[in-house]
Amino acid sequence: GTTARIIDGKAIAAAIRGEVADEAAGFAARAGRRAGLAVVLVGNDPASEVYVGSKVRLTREAGMESFEHRLAAETSEADLLALVHRLNDNPAVDGILVQLPLPRHIDSGRVILAIDPAKDVDGLHPENAGRLMNGLPGLVPCTPLGSMRLIERTVGDVAGLDAVVVGRSVLVGKPVAQMLLAANATVTVAHSRTRDLAALCRRADVLVAAVGRPEMVRGDWIKPGATVIDVGINRLAPAPDAAKGRLVGDVAFAEAKTVASAITPVPGGVGPMTIACLLQNTLQAAQRRVG
Ligand code: NDP
Repeated sequence: GTTARIIDGKAIAAAIRGEVADEAAGFAARAGRRAGLAVVLVGNDPASEVYVGSKVRLTREAGMESFEHRLAAETSEADLLALVHRLNDNPAVDGILVQLPLPRHIDSGRVILAIDPAKDVDGLHPENAGRLMNGLPGLVPCTPLGSMRLIERTVGDVAGLDAVVVGRSVLVGKPVAQMLLAANATVTVAHSRTRDLAALCRRADVLVAAVGRPEMVRGDWIKPGATVIDVGINRLAPAPDAAKGRLVGDVAFAEAKTVASAITPVPGGVGPMTIACLLQNTLQAAQRRVG
């Protein structure tokens, strides 16, 4: 049988970070200050700690300023909102990222609404979501943007292709569907109530899985020659002799790679692209603010 090209998100992300670093140096020279990203972490969720750690490190590596705000899990919503307002008003801060999920006593919708849309580098503010939907310039969510970049690099023009997005979250599924639509793909968005998901997926030239269910998409759900973008990050239960379980995506990779023409691995596919796009969004926000 055939074997798919493995889309090297790690290498593509590193190349994008290199480009961002060059542009960030230019920005600093023109603006007389470095572009700045504020990252807010509430509590100590281990996965969030890892993400925030990488974001801070890679922001600095790209020649941008990183402002870290680590707050206790019991921080009140009012205190978090007050911090967001201070960051909105701080001219050294171009981008604000509040790491999700937030502790349950905090309404994340209210926190996202409080972020200045011009600094909303996660692209989650309804104003930015509306801009994406209306084809207006704005800040777009990093994971969908990273997924789209991989699709463009792999497929080229998606105009007229059938794209199926499995998952309709505000964070991933909906925005990636909007981006594919804007690029003239024929887009179907599937979710937990979709009937005969396997048959639907089999029609996809471009299949994006953003479900959060380990290896749900099987090899025989994939159209021969399709491009498969696996957004899922799922940790399996550890083997008896191991401390940590294996990371897998939402696609059964070993099966899928015998059918698809190109596929992202997990880890090393969409994951690294998310941070690269965050840095790109931060620089874009900085450039727009300086004018
Ligand atoms: P959500 O849980 O918010 O959304 C999951 C979506 O999948 C929902 O729309 C849900 O449908 C749908 N779904 C659930 N079960 C099924 C099913 N059996 N059949 C069809 N659809 C189903 O997840 P996210 O969108 O936030 O994340 C998706 C995955 O991507 C997760 O594994 C997450 O860890 C990963 N992720 C990776 C990132 C990265 O940097 N690479 C960043 C963000 C997320 P319904 O709406 O009907 O409930």
